[in-house]
Parts: sequence; structure tokens; C-alpha cells
Amino acid sequence: MYLFINSVYLSFEFCNFVRSTYFFIKTSLSLYLHPQKFLFTHFEHRIIMKIMKFGGTSVGKPERMHQVAQLITKTDEPKIVVLSALSGTTNALVGISDYLAARNKVEAKTSIDKLEAHYRDFVLLLASTEEARAKANAIVTEHFEFLNIILLISFSDALNKDILAQGELLSTKLFSVFLEEQGIAHELLPALDFMTIDEYEEPQLPNIREKLTAILSEHKSTKLFVTQGYICRNAKGEVDNLKRGGSDYTASLVAAAIKATVCEIWTDIDGMHNNDPRIVDKTLPIKQISFDEAAELAYFGAKILHPTCIWPAQLTNVPVKLLNTMQPEAEGTVITQEAGSVGVKAVAAKDGIIAIKIKSSRMLLAYGFLRKIFEVFEKYRTSIDMITTSEVAVSVTIDSNLHLEEIVKELELYGTVEVDTNQTIVSIVGNEISKTEHILQRLFESIAEIPVRMVSYGGSPHNVSLLVNSEFKIKTLQLLNKGLFGL
Ligand code: ADP
Ligand code: ASP
Ligand code: MG
Repeated sequence: MYLFINSVYLSFEFCNFVRSTYFFIKTSLSLYLHPQKFLFTHFEHRIIMKIMKFGGTSVGKPERMHQVAQLITKTDEPKIVVLSALSGTTNALVGISDYLAARNKVEAKTSIDKLEAHYRDFVLLLASTEEARAKANAIVTEHFEFLNIILLISFSDALNKDILAQGELLSTKLFSVFLEEQGIAHELLPALDFMTIDEYEEPQLPNIREKLTAILSEHKSTKLFVTQGYICRNAKGEVDNLKRGGSDYTASLVAAAIKATVCEIWTDIDGMHNNDPRIVDKTLPIKQISFDEAAELAYFGAKILHPTCIWPAQLTNVPVKLLNTMQPEAEGTVITQEAGSVGVKAVAAKDGIIAIKIKSSRMLLAYGFLRKIFEVFEKYRTSIDMITTSEVAVSVTIDSNLHLEEIVKELELYGTVEVDTNQTIVSIVGNEISKTEHILQRLFESIAEIPVRMVSYGGSPHNVSLLVNSEFKIKTLQLLNKGLFGL
């Protein structure tokens, strides 16, 4: 039973404003605005429903899918289940696409056949009745026929997106067959019917809200919905996606669209840890963090969350929970508006950073100089992560080399430009970090042996960021684990 109170119209322009404000925050500039302060009052209605998103490893084996079916039927409340592709599938599809782009049809065909064999084995253990297996195999046949037909067509960007979409389409359809076999009533919602992005690849929340609420109101007696993460339609109406790891973003957007009671992200670890568990030996889960802290961590490299998946939940004040499918009883992490305790909560690292230094003794202090510099980045839709200035130079970092050449060329109009690639941002994230006693002393003492290229502090009360050459990333994370957390 859903509670539809008044539907609220959120203007498209206003939503864009909130989004650009959000992205401005992450540049660590001192102009720090909280979009939710202006907006929460506009989102009065809530649909009594929860979102449960399961990542690749949570559905990557037939027994895990069985476990997911148990988890989603534990409680009776209405829910939308968002599924990723089976683990390894999107990587395999990217590989197939790359082979096709390189006109290597032989290798593409080998990869398609290998992936199909994987799905045939999966079906054998997923379903137990012949009828369900036949249904599941028919789905596998349909999608692999599509991939085989693509081998005959000339490759394009649109085709690439179609290929990448097969993973989530397969996982949700196979899961639906299993639920049906188990007699679990549900509705499969095609994400392509409601999940849209605009010409700048930004999700269109008002449109998603409108379409999704209309679809849900057509199924008032249904309590369980299953839909695809990651995939969407773009401004041209073509199949597109929300970038790698984007199923978290789908979950958060769906949660915001209906203002769900909670958005649960089920994965293979018991919540957000204080440091990267893939790199550092001893890490611990964090019980509670704020949206701001989680957004900083996700953006600055904590892979457990898609970089931009927090803003929709934050905008609509939907709590996000990070939970472990393999250990459902573990507490996990709750992400809410409340900041919680003061102090450093976690450290994360983001690779592939490029540092650009613009040196100009003549112009730096001149009025409007920084604006001109920023305009160059804006022109090429390249966001700045860190910025530091001195009397004669300004250094910024970017995470994309897509327009590097053009950017450097234009910046050279204003001074000498130096570019350093292969850099890593290490972010120390927490609540009111600046009020934590001796924080900078502890921080710099613990990494005394590391050559630090840039430091950003004070742009946000939640973050201190360091830029180091990527060769020092592992050492930096390990030293900070000791120095800041005593681990
Ligand atoms: P899913 O497939 O469920 O989306 P991901 O692989 O995207 O899962 O994210 C979970 C992984 O994120 C964990 O297995 C862990 O290795 C990695 N990770 C990186 N940083 C962190 C962190 N700070 N806390 C928890 N997990 C992290
Ligand atoms: N399947 C997509 C990926 O691997 C999206 C996701 O899993 O979140 O990137
Ligand atoms: Mg993920």
C-alpha cells in the first residue's frame, strides 16, 4: 500500500541549479552551499517503500541470487529491488565492445561465447525446474543472439551502450524467472521506461519521478518490484548508462524520485570502512556518517559507492544504509543528515589525477584572473577537484584528460603551464575536521616521509586533501591508518 500525498513539481532549472551547486562543493572552494537547506521543504510527500540495491558480487553466483531472494522477502513492506549485472559481466561486455571498436571480430566472438557459456552454467544452478530453466535459457539465448547480431553491424557509440546494457537486462530477467519459480509475486520494471539523462548526461530527477510514480500507481497491489541498475535512456532516446558502478546511482535516484523510506545498498563488505580495505590490512566499518562525508568519500575514491550517488538521497533526506549480503546481520553503515561525532572518519584515494600549474607573476593578483582560468575548465566541462594558490602560481587538479590538450593551450594565454600526470588525491574525511585537536600535526607527522605535491584544507569542514604522486599512494594510506586511526 503506498501513500501518495500531493505530487510536487520541482522545476527542471531548479534541479539543475541544485546539481551544479553540488558539484561546486566538491571543488573545495570556500563558497559552500547546502542545497538541502533550500529544498527539503519542497519534498513533502513520501511513498512508503524501500529501495534495496544488490551489486555484482551479491548476484554473481546462483546461490547468492537465492540469498537475495530470501533477503528481499524477509519483510512485508513494499520495495523496489535494483540489481547490477552479475560480477564480471560488465567488464566482459566492455572487452567485447573494445574488440569490436578495434574491428577484432574474432576475439569479440570468443569473448561472447565464453560469456554465454558462463550464463548457461549459471542457469543450471539458478533454477531447479525444467520449466524455469527453459525460460531462463530462452532469455540467455535472446540476449546472446543480440550480441552475435552486433558482430555483423558496423560499430558505433550507440551500439557500445547497447552492448553494455545487456548485463543488467540479463541479471534482472533471470532473477525474475527465479522469483516466479519460487512463487514470489513481483513486477519487473524496465529501467529504460523511467530512468533518463539529459544532453549533459545528468539524470533528470523530475522526469524520473513523474514516470516512476505513474508506473507504480498502475500496480497498486504489487509489493515487490525489480529493476535494472546502471542503464538509462539519453536525451536522444537511446540506451545509455550512468557510468561504471552506476547501479548505486540508480538506487539513489529511484529512492529520491519516490522519496523512499530508506535506500539500502547491499554489497560484499559490512559498510563503509575507515580506509581502503583493498590496500590497507586493518580497516574497520564506520557506524554512521553524514551525507556530506559520504559524498566526499565516494567522490574521492571509496569504491563502495558510486562517486555521485549521494546527492539524490541527500536532496530528499532518504537515509542510505550500506549492508553486507554475505553477512546480513552486520550493522553496516548508516548515512544520514546528522553529522555525528566530531573527528576524522575515513581516508580514501582517487587515482588518475592530473595537476596543472599556471604560473604568471604578471597576472595572478590581477582582478578576474582566477575567473578566466576557471572559465577555461568550464568551457571544456572539466571539473576541478583541488585548487591551491600562491602569489605567482595557481595549481588545480582534474580527473579527466579528455580535453587536456585544448585546456593547456588556452591556459597558456595566461602564463606558463606545467602538467603532472599520474597523481593521486588522498582525502581525509570527517566531521568538523578543523576542530579536531592537533589534526594537522598528527596528519603531517604520520606522513613525514611522503613528498606531498598539494594540500587543500578549509574548503570544506569535512575534508583535508593531499596530492601525491601515485607511486606513494599505498604507503600514504598505510601511514595514515597508523597515524590517524592507530591501526
Ligand atoms: P558492488 O559490486 O556491490 O557495487 P563494489 O565492488 O562496487 O561492490 O564496492 C564494494 C567494494 O568497495 C568492497 O569490496 C571494497 O573492496 C571496496 N572499497 C573501497 N574502499 C572502501 C571503503 N572505504 N569501505 C568499504 N569498501 C571499500
Ligand atoms: N554493472 C555496472 C558496472 O559494473 C554497474 C554496477 O555494477 O553498478 O559498472
Ligand atoms: Mg559498486
